[in-house]
Amino acid sequence: METTLSIIKPDGVRRNLIGKIFAKIEDKGLRIAATKMIHLSKKQAEMFYAVHKERPFYGELVESMTSGPVVVSVLQGANAIANYREVMGATNPAEAAAGTIRKEFAVSIGENTVHGSDAPETATTEVNFFFAASEIPNKE
Ligand code: GDP
Repeated sequence: METTLSIIKPDGVRRNLIGKIFAKIEDKGLRIAATKMIHLSKKQAEMFYAVHKERPFYGELVESMTSGPVVVSVLQGANAIANYREVMGATNPAEAAAGTIRKEFAVSIGENTVHGSDAPETATTEVNFFFAASEIPNKE
């Protein structure tokens, strides 16, 4: 059993894609263990993406992540991290495989609809960034 963090980015929430994205997650056999909608502050978005702060697209990334509400979710399942990244598709939607969230829904590399943790350490950090333990009823 593994845990990962999913974010439906503002472009996905804005275009009424929450249900379609949740369906793809659940169809992959992943459990939505906790979920909530929040509007990130500039400071929160900057902290969450701090690893990218030297990249040329950092300002644009922070701006788009704070442009509207997001849906953050804790996903659980066997190989949840890799399985969710597979459902998400490649960062650049032009390179994403058929049937993936980004292939079907992403607007561009900047507005690519979803985020998913990329390793067990980042998954733990990212889940703790958004959720208190008491907010994850299906923790085990
Ligand atoms: P991910 O793990 O697939 O989300 O990709 P990364 O960790 O490499 O990048 C984080 C996020 O930064 C991506 O999901 C994109 O929204 C954004 N991003 C990455 N590369 C670019 C780029 O070249 N241009 C722009 N505008 N955004 C980018």
